[in-house]
Amino acid sequence: MAKVKKSKENIEKNIIKDSSITRIFNTVSKELIKIGVPIPVKDIKKVGELKTRSKRVRGVTYTFKRITYNNINIDKTNYIGINKKLIEDNFEIEKTMVHELIHTIPGCNNHGPNFKKYAGLINRHYPKYNVSTYYTPDSDETENIANIKKPKYVVTCENCGAKTYFYRKCKTLDILSRCTCKKCKTSNFKVEKLG
Ligand SMILES: [Zn+2]
Ligand SMILES: [Zn+2]
Repeated sequence: MAKVKKSKENIEKNIIKDSSITRIFNTVSKELIKIGVPIPVKDIKKVGELKTRSKRVRGVTYTFKRITYNNINIDKTNYIGINKKLIEDNFEIEKTMVHELIHTIPGCNNHGPNFKKYAGLINRHYPKYNVSTYYTPDSDETENIANIKKPKYVVTCENCGAKTYFYRKCKTLDILSRCTCKKCKTSNFKVEKLG
């Protein structure tokens, strides 16, 4: 597939809500969770039909990661698209859904050992799914899109050490002498510009 710049907006537009796919997603994700496969359901933002002309790609999983400073907050958003033009049969959609759902688990972005571990577990419990790890790169696409936001300034309270990060130059930075620390209520700040 031609590489296009992937943005949440583009992906959102290219995945169309579809009631039968939603139903399959609900059923299959419950089945997998029941046997201990840690599907991050709350981090799966949209599931639907993939708008594509591809004659090979059966399903896609896109994972967006937003890592804030100190790696404290990691927001993850997953999108799953199923190429219904290629696979209309419900059972084939289920099989593809199982495969794509494994890709939403952290560390399962590719078909490496983590992926194979869960594929094996699923195949033991639900042999009908017969999860293949031999999908050619063309039949299934996954992408991890990381967006690491780095702050431009850090303000440190010289009294208690509390730190506040700023992602752009804003008014607060100019009027710090009039501000008080949320933690210790003093007004003694140091501003540093971060590289
Ligand atoms: Zn895959
Ligand atoms: Zn303070």
